[in-house]
Amino acid sequence: MIPYGRQTIDEDDIKAVVEVLRSDWLTTGPKVAEFEKVFAQYVGAKYAVVVSSGTAALHAAMYAIGIKPCDEVIVPPITFAASVNCVVYQGGTPVFSDVEPDTLLLDPDQIETKITSKTKTIIAVDYAGHPCDYDSLRKIADKYNLVLVADACHALGAEYKGEKTGTLADLNIFSFHPVKHITTGEGGMITTDNADYADRMRIFRNHGITTDHHQREKQGSWFYEMTDLGYNYRMTDLQCALGISQLRKLPKFLKRRREIAARYDEAFASLSGINPLVVRHDSLHAYHLYVVRVDSGALGIDRTALFTSLCERGIGVNVHYIPVHLHPFYRDKFNTGPGLCPVAEAAYEQIISIPMFPEMSDSDIEAVIEAISTSI
Ligand SMILES: *Cc1c(COP(=O)(O)O)cnc(C)c1O
Repeated sequence: MIPYGRQTIDEDDIKAVVEVLRSDWLTTGPKVAEFEKVFAQYVGAKYAVVVSSGTAALHAAMYAIGIKPCDEVIVPPITFAASVNCVVYQGGTPVFSDVEPDTLLLDPDQIETKITSKTKTIIAVDYAGHPCDYDSLRKIADKYNLVLVADACHALGAEYKGEKTGTLADLNIFSFHPVKHITTGEGGMITTDNADYADRMRIFRNHGITTDHHQREKQGSWFYEMTDLGYNYRMTDLQCALGISQLRKLPKFLKRRREIAARYDEAFASLSGINPLVVRHDSLHAYHLYVVRVDSGALGIDRTALFTSLCERGIGVNVHYIPVHLHPFYRDKFNTGPGLCPVAEAAYEQIISIPMFPEMSDSDIEAVIEAISTSI
């Protein structure tokens, strides 16, 4: 069985974690600040704030911006539910805006029709690892005074016009779940150039307790104040040590993901009816996922039948994603449903994600291609 994605853990990673186990710090210690520093350097952002998951990172971003009840946030339908749930955590209202048919990224041309006097933020999702059209998104954000957030959980190491993800929006979100580019088991990060946002998120991840130790020293070492309602979204030193070790290998992981994608591209160029998503010339893809659209008109087999056939042949496939606005929670609470985002809904009938992870061998890749060729 070849899974659709999985982590790569080597002896260096294991050693890094064991060293922390033998140290004085298990949770917030020196590895937290070190991981934030090397991560910020890698993406080229001023600040990085580490938290316990990508979902916590999204929540912290909504908090930092100050999303509150009645605020509206523009979101794409083709994403993991967490990209949208974070708006609801803060009492805000997600407003779904449709995607481009060829990339399945938020379509800048559709956004303006969704903007009202209540709109505060746009959350752009770099779906599959392809950066959104940030120049167009920035123009819209500036015109309407909106904060631009990038959910770059799929796109660590991707580039847009030569700039890495992590710097493309006001707040940039990453996840370290085992299927993502680097892992800490669970984990997340927000990068920003805005010191105020970074401060707010550091307080938010620690119960809303101010962490200004200068102030603490002045007023007695026992003294602290809770200045707002926060959560325990801290990450452990154990996990940060793993993150630091994994980040060193990111260039190697990315190189392999791109090699696998190049081989798939080549194979599917001659398989009509198996259509990979489009990659824009101004972007460097990070290939968290490799997604193809199954054109049942050309093939006589549809996505669902191909899915079943590949599972039977031991190929781990998946569908990313059921459009978020079609989930019962959003239908019930926000009155969404079919027809709201027709491009996303049509794509959903056709998409399938095929195996993509750095440890795939060349023969694994050929086995996937062979299984697809003989299924259609
Ligand atoms: C993985 C993911 C998240 C959530 O990250 P977790 O670390 O699993 O909480 C959010 N958005 C997108 C697009 C993701 O792929």
